[in-house]
Amino acid sequence: MHKTFKYRIYPNKAQQALLQATFGCCRFVYNKTLDIRKTAYETDKTKLSKFDLIKRLKPLKDEFPWLRDVPHVCLPQAVYNMDRAYQNFFKSDKGYPKFKTKHRSRKSCKFPYPFCDVLQEQARLKFSKLGLVKYKKDREFVGTLRHIVVTQDSDGKYYASCLVETTTEIPEPQPVDASTTVGIDLGLKDFIVTSDGHKIPNPRFYATIDRRIARLQKHEARKTKGSKRRAHIRLKINKLYIKKRNLIKNYIYHVAKTLLRESQTLVMEDLNIVGMVKNHSLAKSIQNICWGELRRVLEYKSQWLGHNLIFIDRFAPSTKTCSYCGFHNSTLTLSDRSWTCPGCGTHHDRDINAALNIKRMGLESLLPAVGGFDGRGEDGYGLDEASICAV
Ligand SMILES: [Zn+2]
Repeated sequence: MHKTFKYRIYPNKAQQALLQATFGCCRFVYNKTLDIRKTAYETDKTKLSKFDLIKRLKPLKDEFPWLRDVPHVCLPQAVYNMDRAYQNFFKSDKGYPKFKTKHRSRKSCKFPYPFCDVLQEQARLKFSKLGLVKYKKDREFVGTLRHIVVTQDSDGKYYASCLVETTTEIPEPQPVDASTTVGIDLGLKDFIVTSDGHKIPNPRFYATIDRRIARLQKHEARKTKGSKRRAHIRLKINKLYIKKRNLIKNYIYHVAKTLLRESQTLVMEDLNIVGMVKNHSLAKSIQNICWGELRRVLEYKSQWLGHNLIFIDRFAPSTKTCSYCGFHNSTLTLSDRSWTCPGCGTHHDRDINAALNIKRMGLESLLPAVGGFDGRGEDGYGLDEASICAV
């Protein structure tokens, strides 16, 4: 299985200069090959492959000799990155690849193995042309190194993400058992609500950071463009943004860990993140980002642990249906936090009821896959109608 280990690295002055040049050259190659591909298609519908584009690197180096000053292995990787962005444009709803800009785009370069190495005993990373770079060895790994991506964050810190092929195999997913299945409702008031009654609140710590960012942005606006003072304030703002991102990330990992510890199978709604982030309320948009990130973390962590993650249609009617008798309460409004079912008289908390329905729908979605399911939990699924209805 592939795992990424991210470490902070401490390049010296000369190495920093070379890395900056490499980031610049990779950006240049990315933009140039994207442009070549675009122009070729626009002029006579020629479709250039990534290999055609890599062949163009040599004439590019002749034209722009400074491309030879940086590690040569990073340049084809920039072409591959551009190609991936280009292919994603056709495969998914991602837009046409944009040209990278010096200040807005992420600074990164990729070293494939064997042009990089991790010397764990010496706590050094080794890169072609760059030499040995000190890194913060906060954990060790066992496995075969595939590549290292060096990045610089907007607060100026450098990081190395090492992709490692580990010897651990991905475990077979365990059979779904209704008693250890938890439905997750993405709450209106809370961050998430689970079918066993837990409510996890929205992260709130970012409000103070947002206030500090807003204050600094006012200061920044008063300084002359391109001045040192303005750059200094910008750096402070970027540091706060990164702090906020890390706090949110930490919170998400904590929530994911709790959910995975307490359940074997998780059921959640299939979100449309792209559509949701367009929501203009700030608190809502942060909640959406967190949900998207939680989904991403749950997806890979449940795979590692052999847990099951089931997605249900996000338009499935989970809120207005009674989780006990199936009564459809069409009079329920957004402001109703709790309601009593006219059909069976059960009193429901709005969000917990929704989570229970999500759990039920997730379990039901598995039934056709079991084949000839007769409600007695054959094939090790451990499902029976009684336990589904009674939850
Ligand atoms: Zn009912």
